[in-house]
Amino acid sequence: MADYREMWSNLDMDLEKHDVLCQVLPEVFGEVYLSQQKRPRGMDFYDFVVSEIHGVRPAELIEHQKSGGKVFGTFCVYVPDEIVFAAGGIATGLCGGSQFWVAAGEKVLPPNTCPLIKASVGARLDKTCPFFRIADMFVGETTCDGKKKAWEILASEVPMHVIDIPQMKRAQDVNAFEREIHSFIKVVEDFTGSKISADSLGESIKLINNKRKALQRLYEARKAAAVPISGKDALLVTQIAFYDDPSRCAQMANQLSEELEERISRKEGVFPEDTLRIMISGTPMAIPNWKLHHIVETSGAAVVVEESCTGTRYFENLVDETAPTLERQVRALAERYMKTNCACFTPNSARIDDILRLAEEYKVDGIIDTNLQFCNLYSTESHLVKQALAEKNIPVLHLETDYSEQDFEQLRTRVQAFLEMLRE
Ligand code: SF4
Ligand code: SF4
Repeated sequence: MADYREMWSNLDMDLEKHDVLCQVLPEVFGEVYLSQQKRPRGMDFYDFVVSEIHGVRPAELIEHQKSGGKVFGTFCVYVPDEIVFAAGGIATGLCGGSQFWVAAGEKVLPPNTCPLIKASVGARLDKTCPFFRIADMFVGETTCDGKKKAWEILASEVPMHVIDIPQMKRAQDVNAFEREIHSFIKVVEDFTGSKISADSLGESIKLINNKRKALQRLYEARKAAAVPISGKDALLVTQIAFYDDPSRCAQMANQLSEELEERISRKEGVFPEDTLRIMISGTPMAIPNWKLHHIVETSGAAVVVEESCTGTRYFENLVDETAPTLERQVRALAERYMKTNCACFTPNSARIDDILRLAEEYKVDGIIDTNLQFCNLYSTESHLVKQALAEKNIPVLHLETDYSEQDFEQLRTRVQAFLEMLRE
């Protein structure tokens, strides 16, 4: 990695602690990623991004700030990035995916909080992540209880705006979310000093839609009988999409997809053709959480789709680009975002419909439905998921895990037993 110490020091980061993280990550990445065979050439870009993870993109964000722009840190796929970009700002995902940050989060949060929240709070308080130091404003949401209360702690560190996400999907809830987007527009306009127009919002709707379309294209390639990309690599692309520049993200994902389509035409896969095809559904896997994919793919199966926020929930459904006025554009945004099916909604049967549809589209042999430890929402919903899958005779394994390595072997044993059962 190039030398970014001065930049990190200017961000008031804890350089000593951060050095530890910088030492561990390349080792883990080498073991999980670089050990894979037949990787597409297009993954070189993503490998480079990881090798410079706390350097290149943070430096770009700082440049943006130097020219008067604002950076907004977000934590959920219900936050409409389009609004931020329409005001000349940059939105960047901030969810923490490493055990490295959990201990710092536990200093202020109850231990029985999900690791994603603990790591996100810890990354800020521990001063070991440049993204958390750079963001001028954090944008939280009222999805789960743990997050809601975590925002109150983070608000003492950084200006915080919380978007009220409805808990149901009735017509009045979509209307409420539409009003919430209008309020968010006001907050972003005041913070950036830029007025959002129908033109600028129209442009940013296209920008984010293009990113979604590129990721859709990439996932489409994973439906092939000879899977042209590993689940681990596809997961990495989605994880990086959360904080990369959206137009570069679309360009690189399209370039990679082109290579995958060529592989498909040659029937060239990364796994033998009779490899078991697995869907992983459930809670998101923020970078660098690759644990479950790594276990599955080193146990002789392929992950072909993720029904999660670091998967299909991130890019399915486009925003209508034809809305002619700001009012109609905001309505289109509300309608698109409210199609996303997170377990924070009740009822959430549309998520089960999604899982069943994806199982068919990606021709999966089995599903691993997983939730991060202490995520009461997804853990409770797993009961109905199991029931619906049983009715369709789709085998499912439910797993709960965290960011630590402690349960690694135990998970491996359970995954291998599940795969054995699928092979019988
Ligand atoms: S799982 Fe729910 S709360 Fe978490 S990022 Fe996804 S939509 Fe947001
Ligand atoms: S995984 Fe569950 S508990 Fe954790 S942030 Fe997401 S919804 Fe909340």
